[in-house]
Order: sequence, then C-alpha cells, then structure tokens
Amino acid sequence: MFKQELLARHCSYQIGGTAHYFSAPPSQDELIAVLQACKSHGQAYTIFGMGSNLLFPDRPREDHVYISLKRLAYWENRAASWFVSAGVPMSMLALVGLHSRIPDFERTYLLPGSLGAGIYMNAKFEQFQISDVIKRVCFLDLDQDQLIPQWIEVCDCQYGYKKSIFQEHNWLILGAELTVTPAGEKEHDLQMALNRWLDLPDSANLKTFYDFFSQEVKGLEDKGTPIPDTLNRIEQYRNGKYHFSYPSCGSVFKNNYDYGTPIGALVEQLNLKGLTHGGAMISPHHGNIIVNSNQASAQDIASLLTVIIDEIHRNFGFVPEPEVVILN
Ligand SMILES: Cc1cc2nc3c(=O)[nH]c(=O)nc-3n(C[C@H](O)[C@H](O)[C@H](O)COP(=O)(O)OP(=O)(O)OC[C@H]3O[C@@H](n4cnc5c(N)ncnc54)[C@H](O)[C@@H]3O)c2cc1C
Repeated sequence: MFKQELLARHCSYQIGGTAHYFSAPPSQDELIAVLQACKSHGQAYTIFGMGSNLLFPDRPREDHVYISLKRLAYWENRAASWFVSAGVPMSMLALVGLHSRIPDFERTYLLPGSLGAGIYMNAKFEQFQISDVIKRVCFLDLDQDQLIPQWIEVCDCQYGYKKSIFQEHNWLILGAELTVTPAGEKEHDLQMALNRWLDLPDSANLKTFYDFFSQEVKGLEDKGTPIPDTLNRIEQYRNGKYHFSYPSCGSVFKNNYDYGTPIGALVEQLNLKGLTHGGAMISPHHGNIIVNSNQASAQDIASLLTVIIDEIHRNFGFVPEPEVVILN
C-alpha cells in the first residue's frame, strides 16, 4: 500500500525530499482503503494530483503520508453524461475535444495538472474556467468516519477566480460529470492515448508533458484531424513564456483584480525579473513565475516568494496571495 518515494519525481518543480509513506492508488476502492488506513493509524496525509501547483518540503516529516491521485485516471459513459476521474490530466480533455469535434475543451490544451486539482483551484486560461465544463462533482468528505462518495452540483460549488467550495472543506474530489459527452466511436483511440500517458515514467516533468500532448495533437493532424487555431495559439503563447523549458509551478501568485495590474507586470516594474537565490530564479520571461534553474531547494523558492511579497507590499501597498500550495 505504501512505499518510500522521492517527491521531486512527482511535481513539476522537481523539488522535494524522500517521503517515507507514498501511495498512488489506481482505483476509488484502493484510494478509500489507503485513506481509511491513514485514519485508523492517526497518520496525517497530503492529497495531490500532478504536482504542478505545489512545493514539496526538502525534508518531509517521517510519519507523513503523501497520496498522489495521478493514477486514478479513467472515464465512464454513464446515462446521458460523461464521468471523468480526478487523475485525468486536464490537457487530455483537449484531445478528447479534438477526437470528438467538441470545441469546449480547447483551452485545456497544455494546461498542466489533473482534473481534480483543476476543479479544486478552478483552473483557468483566458476567459475559460474549468467550472465552465462541469455539471456536478463527486467527492469524499474526509472528516466523516465512513468515506462515502457524495455529489455536489456545480451551481453550489461557489466558484470564483481561482476559488471553490473545495478549498473551504476537507473534501477530496473523486471526479466530475462533464457538460458534454464525447462521441462513442472514438472511445478506443482515447483510451489508448490515456494508457500511453499513464505509461510515461516521468509525467511530472514539464518537458515530458509538453512533448506528449504536442505529439498526440501532431499525430491527429497527420491523420487528417483539423487542428483549431486556438491550439496553435496556446502552444505559441506557452512556448513564448518558456513554460516548459524549466521546472516551475506556473504563476506563484494569484492576480489582485482590485489592484488591477497583474503581479507579473508589478514584478517587472520592480526590476526583479532574473533575480536568483541559490538554484531558484524569478523567470526573466514572466515576473509571476519562479523557476528551478539549477537544483533549487524548496527553501530557495520560498526565499524568492518572500522577496516578491515584501517588495510588492512596500511599493504597492498590498500583500499578494500565493497560488502555489506550500507544503511543510
Ligand atoms: C507551466 C505551468 C503553467 C500553468 N498555467 C496555468 C494556467 O494557465 N491556469 C491555471 O489555472 N493554472 C496554471 N498552472 C497551475 C496548475 O496547472 C493548476 O493549478 C492545476 O490545477 C494543478 O493541478 P495538479 O494536479 O498539478 O495539482 P497539485 O499541484 O497536485 O495540487 C494542487 C492543490 O490541489 C489540491 N488537490 C489536488 N487534487 C485534488 C483532489 N482530487 N481533491 C481535492 N484537492 C486536490 C492539492 O491538495 C493541492 O492543494 C500552471 C502550472 C505550470 C507548471
């Protein structure tokens, strides 16, 4: 059920020491068994998906359990709806959209992370938010003694900018019913694509992530599938910001819409782009991204976060809210 594992292998920052208890259950039943075992032994645990929005500790506590949901990846056609489990990468939805000619998922292309975390964070790109394509969410209330799947409708999920009800409760998202159902005849091809993804040995690596999804799209294009302009534009945008060139977690702070100017632009005004601490660097290409440029520690990343918080507070009068989840 549990093994020792280097957490750096399970996050896009490629940072994190050895967890003494690690598990990546592939089914709902096995996940519930792992959670019940933690409960009965009184062991604290952390749930995560693809690790593209978090910072693992350099020295994890020896008794702490780390539970990855990235192998909990399957989908099912249920009566008039499509259920997708938490571990399916959001970018896989863009492939489903291409196969089935559904435009709704285009902006999930090359969006790192799992559907479960996307539902938790209300992941977004441009005007698109993940809450736009879900109907209802299946979750476990981890505070209950009996872990029984429950449902919540999207209108009750209190969605806002990078906000959801899931951040207010100790709930684990198992998956969701989506608003559209892909065409059945493509089911086999899609399952093969998901299997290829699950077979990758280092899927947390951003370069691997990019290569996988861009090659899957190229493969479809070679077979005659028309590729919408949006996908080409997304690829150019993300490559232009060097999203997949260095280990990172994307934007480290949420934008402050009351203040107006994006955090990246404020960091640029403060001349902080390119600043380094140990192996960490504020990206020279995007002020809201801190990259692991040379074997950074979690402490190196945290130090640059503190510099940005202090300088924005001193110069612009507010404390930026981290988007990255910092695990101690
Ligand atoms: C290069 C790059 C670009 C990015 N661009 C964007 C972007 O354009 N838009 C955007 O919104 N984000 C972006 N991100 C951030 C990231 O893609 C999203 O936050 C994504 O939702 C994280 O998914 P994950 O599976 O990696 O989550 P993780 O990092 O594994 O977890 C993040 C948080 O979600 C919680 N969580 C994970 N799974 C579950 C679950 N099933 N139930 C309950 N809680 C859960 C974890 O406990 C943790 O608190 C980017 C990241 C990178 C590295």
